[in-house]
Amino acid sequence: MLTIDAQRFMRRHESLAKWGATGKGGVNRPALSADETGARRELLDWARTRGFAIYVDPIGNLFVRRQGRSANALPIRMGSHLDSQMPGGNYDGVYGVLAAFEVLETLEDNAVAFDAPLELIVWNNEEGCRFSPTTMGSAVHAGSLPLEQALCAVDSEGVTVGRALERSLHLLGSLTPVDLGSPCSGYIEAHIEQGPRLEALGLSVGVVSGIQGIAQFVFEVEGEEAHAGTTPRDKRKDALRGAINLVEDLALAIEHDDDVRFTVGKFEVAPGAINTVPAKVVFTVDLRHPDSEELARLVQVVQVVSSSLRLRCRVHCRQILNSPPIKFDAAVTAVISESCAKAGIDTMTLPSGATHDAKHMAELCPSGMIFIPCRDGISHSDREYASAQDMIQGANILLASIVRLADLTSVGTSDQKHERV
Ligand SMILES: [Zn+2]
Repeated sequence: MLTIDAQRFMRRHESLAKWGATGKGGVNRPALSADETGARRELLDWARTRGFAIYVDPIGNLFVRRQGRSANALPIRMGSHLDSQMPGGNYDGVYGVLAAFEVLETLEDNAVAFDAPLELIVWNNEEGCRFSPTTMGSAVHAGSLPLEQALCAVDSEGVTVGRALERSLHLLGSLTPVDLGSPCSGYIEAHIEQGPRLEALGLSVGVVSGIQGIAQFVFEVEGEEAHAGTTPRDKRKDALRGAINLVEDLALAIEHDDDVRFTVGKFEVAPGAINTVPAKVVFTVDLRHPDSEELARLVQVVQVVSSSLRLRCRVHCRQILNSPPIKFDAAVTAVISESCAKAGIDTMTLPSGATHDAKHMAELCPSGMIFIPCRDGISHSDREYASAQDMIQGANILLASIVRLADLTSVGTSDQKHERV
């Protein structure tokens, strides 16, 4: 059975880790920063040395292509991202990029030819921490976010995506343009789990069934500013007390099963003086569930609960995001499961708690994901860690799955489909 060059794979991982290294095991490599551009440049240098073709689409997603035998065959794609949180870990994103690049190199080393070209996509701005929203590159590529809107997004210093992209691309050498939404026949992304389930069961690889849905809300609770010392209890319209009650009522009504994720991540109190009854509180709710009907029901529950506030305050609730769950393609998921079975690796099927670029690719073509465990389920942190053994195992499953997809999409007899030239 074909396997990756594990030493080269780990060497490449170590080499990219220097871009934005925090000195504590993680990286600070926001999208289109000098460090992320450095990591992209190093990867493209490796790709050029191997003779792979390189393309860029209008939102700055990079495509590294190993040509196929047929001029008409649609590409099969893999991918992930090289940007990180500020700071983030040294596995989130970069793992999937390097696993995919290693698949291309291994096939090249072994002169395995397919009809279909194989491509690695390095997505632009997956993290969404420098420029909002998250998964910007894949959303624009798949047509769910307008290009112009994305290019106008600004960072905290007023720099637009358009300007930062121009500067970054200038440093990457010559790139051939490719259209948004270019057709392909399949997509697989390898990623760390960013949760604790695989590690708890001692598994090296997980097959991802889909990505849970997200609904996000902004709440404004309005009371009345008053003197903290002179205003009696029955005259107070305390927005903070109202907001606290509301958060507790929401949690009680919503958190009824283990698949629900309910988070209040932002909470702002005004005017914010020690001796003034708060007049206004603005807080956010991030609500997730893998089942679309259940998520829709929970969204209704949020609306009902928010209209029944105690403590004489007014509440305004605005839903700012409705992203339904997706299920990955059954055939792609089966190919990944079969690759694990053939390699004698125990696995499990699990939904992804975090969102990924694969969510947008699933709108364009049959898609799937492979997870590997990360220690204590920790991610978006210097402490993020995946073992070399799991990284290698996951990359080998990606290789086997891509070979299987490429065989399935090749024409001709089964003997001719997958040949060494
Ligand atoms: Zn990621």
